[in-house]
Amino acid sequence: LEYSSRLEAQSAELTRTAGKLREANEKLTQISLQKDGFLSQVSHELRTPMTSIRAFSEILRDTADLNPDEKRRYATIIHDEALRLTRLLDDLLDLSVLESGQVHLNSRLARLDEVLDHALASALAGYDHPLRVHRDAAGERVMLNSDIDRLAQVFINLIANAQKYCDAADPELRIKIEHAPDGLHVEFHDNGGGIPEGAQAMVFEKFARVSSEKAGGAGLGLAICREIMERLGGDIAYLSGRPGAVFRVTLPVRATTEALLQQA
Ligand code: ADP
Repeated sequence: LEYSSRLEAQSAELTRTAGKLREANEKLTQISLQKDGFLSQVSHELRTPMTSIRAFSEILRDTADLNPDEKRRYATIIHDEALRLTRLLDDLLDLSVLESGQVHLNSRLARLDEVLDHALASALAGYDHPLRVHRDAAGERVMLNSDIDRLAQVFINLIANAQKYCDAADPELRIKIEHAPDGLHVEFHDNGGGIPEGAQAMVFEKFARVSSEKAGGAGLGLAICREIMERLGGDIAYLSGRPGAVFRVTLPVRATTEALLQQA
């Protein structure tokens, strides 16, 4: 009897181990599938600009009687596509560094209003009709202790997206600050078309593109934002149910200090 119960126990143990192995195997398959998907997406993203660079450089090389205007136009396309490639590679590199977890965070003190000033100036530079920005002067009187450059990178991305995807006749962006139990909320609310309910969950994934490709981004910006906020111990989310697009950045309580900046 003892022998058979020992056998039973062993067989149960074997079943458990087999289950675990199966689970691990499934996970591995999933990871390698994700990797394959990632590689094919990267190749696709690289191929598009490469194709036009090749085509237009061939025209420049092989067409004898191009007028100066045509020459300039083709050269400009080549240049713009090369810039797009560079941006794509920079984003991919940044994302892989963030995902590897080997990022160096440099925390320092900064005023939230100044971080936002800088992010707005940087994101809206070069636009003839930058969106109108409404800010929360009182709410922004907060001192931050975080990796300010990385945080500014998140803000710049969100503001640039608001500008890109907000094609209303009179584009507006509201920046709202709120103290909440889980930290400081910084909300970016534009009056564009927003993101459809069904697509909201995927916009933080790599290569997510919901709206048309008019803006020419590769869909890496929000994935980078999510990685950064995770590293900073905070969060980023899309808030549904409101007109326009609303993104909320949450900074952990330890990254903020209420400061009496009126005196500053
Ligand atoms: P992209 O480089 O394409 O802008 P992002 O990761 O920044 O990549 O954004 C992913 C997708 O989410 C965009 O392609 C766009 O479809 C959608 N999106 C982002 N921000 C907004 C916004 N403020 N309003 C509407 N759609 C947006």
